[in-house]
Amino acid sequence: MDAPARGWVVVAEDEPAIADLVRLYLERDGFGVHQVRDGRDALAAVRTERPVALVLDIGLPGMDGVEVCRTLRAAQDWTPVVFVTARDEEVDRVLGLELGADDYVTKPFSPRELVARVRAVLRRTAGPQRQVLTAGAVTVDRDARRVSVDGRPVALTPTEFDLLAHLLTHPDRVYPREELLSAVWGYAAAAGTRTVDVHVAQLRAKLGPHAPIRTVRGVGYAGVTGADT
Ligand code: CA
Repeated sequence: MDAPARGWVVVAEDEPAIADLVRLYLERDGFGVHQVRDGRDALAAVRTERPVALVLDIGLPGMDGVEVCRTLRAAQDWTPVVFVTARDEEVDRVLGLELGADDYVTKPFSPRELVARVRAVLRRTAGPQRQVLTAGAVTVDRDARRVSVDGRPVALTPTEFDLLAHLLTHPDRVYPREELLSAVWGYAAAAGTRTVDVHVAQLRAKLGPHAPIRTVRGVGYAGVTGADT
C-alpha cells in the first residue's frame, strides 16, 4: 500500500459509527487511518505505526484514553494527541492533568472540525524540515553541520550542534530536559538531565547574546527564531 500523502493517523475509538466517520473524513483529507478500539491496541499501534497523530477517545475499554496518553508521555513519546471527550468533566480532566494533550474535541463533534484540529496540531508540532535554519543572527546549516553568527563561523561540538539544531527545528516548542536527553543523547531514562543544562550553557557562551535558546523555568528549553532573542 502506498504511503498516504499526509501520513498515518491512529484513531482509537470504540464506537464503530464514530470511528468510521472520522476515518472517512481523514482519508478524504489525505491521511491514512489505522483504527483501534481499545487502549492497549492504541498504545501498540502508536509504537509500531509511528503515526503523525493520535485521535484518542477517553472512554476506551481496557485502558482509558487518559492512561494511554500518560503512558506514552512517560515513555517520552510526544506523538501529537487530539482527545475526543464525551463530557465537559473529561475536558477538565485532560487539561488539568497536563498530559501533553495537543487539542481536544467534545462529542458530538463535526468530523470536519476534528480533521481541522488534526491538521492544526500537525502544523504546530511538525513544521517543515528545513535544512538551513535561521534564528536572528544565527544560521544553522544542517547539511554541512555549520553554525555562524552574523556570518562568522562558530565551532560547536557534535552534541552542541545536535542540541541547537533540535531546538530550532521546532521553534517555540518547549522541550523538557528529559526529552532533549532522549532525542539528542539517545538516553532512554531521565538520567543526568544536568548534562542538558551544561550544554546549553556552552552554546550560550559560544553564540553570545544571539544564542536563540530560551529557558523555561522548571521545564526545559525552547528554540527561538524571532527577533526577541
Ligand atoms: Ca468510547
